[in-house]
Amino acid sequence: MKVSVTDECVGCERCVEICPEVFAMGDEIAEVLVDEVPEELEDRVTEAIEECPSEAIVVQE
Ligand code: SF4
Repeated sequence: MKVSVTDECVGCERCVEICPEVFAMGDEIAEVLVDEVPEELEDRVTEAIEECPSEAIVVQE
């Protein structure tokens, strides 16, 4: 699983709270810290995708 954050991000930091191993705040929008999401973190990344208020987290594969 690979994810990215689009510029639809409103910087609410919800994804960082849910899964700080994968998401961190950049200057204005969240950024993804890993190339490939480790399998054990996929559930929490999925939760972050569902919780993101602007649907800014996109699954690439
Ligand atoms: S949850 Fe969505 S809007 Fe909020 S910081 Fe993360 S990517 Fe941005």
